[in-house]
Order: sequence, then structure tokens, then C-alpha cells
Amino acid sequence: MLDIQPIVRDNDRYNLHGHTQFCDGHADMEDFVRQAIAEGFTHYGFTPHAPTTAESPVNMTREAMPQYFAEVVRLRQVYGKQIEILAGLEIDYIDGFGPDDPYFVSLPLDFSIGSVHFIPSVRDENEWVDIDGRFENFKKKVPQYFDGDIEWVVRTFFRQMTRMVERGGFDIVGHLDKIGHNASMYRPGIDTESWYDTLVHDLVDAIMDHHYIIEVNTKAWTQHRRFFPNERYFELLRRYQAPVIFNSDAHYPHLINAGRDVAIRLFNA
Ligand SMILES: [Zn+2]
Ligand SMILES: [Zn+2]
Repeated sequence: MLDIQPIVRDNDRYNLHGHTQFCDGHADMEDFVRQAIAEGFTHYGFTPHAPTTAESPVNMTREAMPQYFAEVVRLRQVYGKQIEILAGLEIDYIDGFGPDDPYFVSLPLDFSIGSVHFIPSVRDENEWVDIDGRFENFKKKVPQYFDGDIEWVVRTFFRQMTRMVERGGFDIVGHLDKIGHNASMYRPGIDTESWYDTLVHDLVDAIMDHHYIIEVNTKAWTQHRRFFPNERYFELLRRYQAPVIFNSDAHYPHLINAGRDVAIRLFNA
């Protein structure tokens, strides 16, 4: 398991969640490393969307994997004295193929993030639907794949997160109540209802039982003023003394630190 203490102790200049040319990022790995050095980062972890069995244009292929690791090695040779570069993956949990699959265990990873971006449709458990993307798409999918049942979508997201946590095979739990963003745009206030709150609490309990690191994901802060998990759960995480890491989930080099300073300040307030 990843030892985050040396990374997060007395140090707020790191990011262990970022996308590049290997998935849906908008710049090359080297651009991110240079930006991270310019901003005084001590650690930068890459996490391309890992190969998955769901239909997805953003996830990398297995064929690209050797190239990815080769680029990590090359960048370490060039920049290794200035910054520590970590090779990670953001691995989707899909029933039957998730972070604990032998394929991922066989890779020379420094760490991995487990995330849920896909849930099965309401009628076909083998039809995996991306519920993570932009709201314009999400709002069309709710009637199309989920019979308009937004509560079912939310509950199924948390069920999949819980299954992922129980199966394991990763270090960091990615953006743990991200569904709250799209769901609350679909039905305002849904993420303040008591059943939703219970789902988050139950998930955090399961995470604590399995000793994962919890990511505070700051990607949506600049545009939507929202963290994942939502700021209202910071106190819960503090009370549990959960190991927490603040990640920007950057897809552009200029956003590698976006929202992180605010999140760290609010978390420690
Ligand atoms: Zn993600
Ligand atoms: Zn990501």
C-alpha cells in the first residue's frame, strides 16, 4: 500500500491524480511535470484511466501500457532530481473487472486509485453506463437507461463504491460522492436528504474498515464550488482521523493545484 505520510506530512505541494495524453488529458506527461516543478511540487502522480471492460473512449488500452511506463522512466531520468514522479492508474470498478484483477496486480504501479464512473443500466446488469461525465449527457441518460429513477442511480453508485471497497486492490478511494454533483443538478437538494447522507456515512465506514486513503478531489471547485467528498463531510473524516490526500484530478497543466489550497485550508479549519 502507498505510504502517503512522506508525501502529505508538512507538505501541501503534490498531486496524485492527473490525466494526460494516455487518456483524456489535454497535454503530455512532460508538460505536467514541468508545471509541477515550476509550482514547487515535491510529488506528481499520473493516473490515466485504466483499461476497462465497459465501452469507453477515454480509458487507455492495454497495448499503450508499456509506452506509459516507459515514459515514466524517461521523465524520472530527466526530472527525477527535481520532483518525485509516481506511476499510477485510476482504475474503474466494474462488476467482474476491477482494481483487484490480476492484470493490474501484475503492473509495476506505485499506487492506484479506485473509482466508479460506470453503473449498470436499470434493465441490463451487463450494460455499463458512464454517469460521471457532463450534466448535459447525464440528464439524457437518466430517462434513457434508468427509467428516470434518480434515486436508483444514486443508490447504485454507492452500492458499486461499496463493492469496490470490499474487493480492494487499490490505495486511494477516488472522488467518493461524485454522483452528488450530477444528481443534485438533476434534482436539487437530493444530496442533502437523509438517505443520501446515510449512504455516504455507510461508505465512509466501509472505507475505514478497509484502511484506504480517501481522496479529497478538487477538480470541480473552480467551476462548481464543490469538492468530492462534499465539504460537509470534512468534519466526519477529521473525526475518523481518516488518511486524506488532496488531489486536483488535473486534465490541464495550469490546473494541477486548482482548488487544493482552499480544500486543505477548509479541511484543517
Ligand atoms: Zn474519476
Ligand atoms: Zn480522474
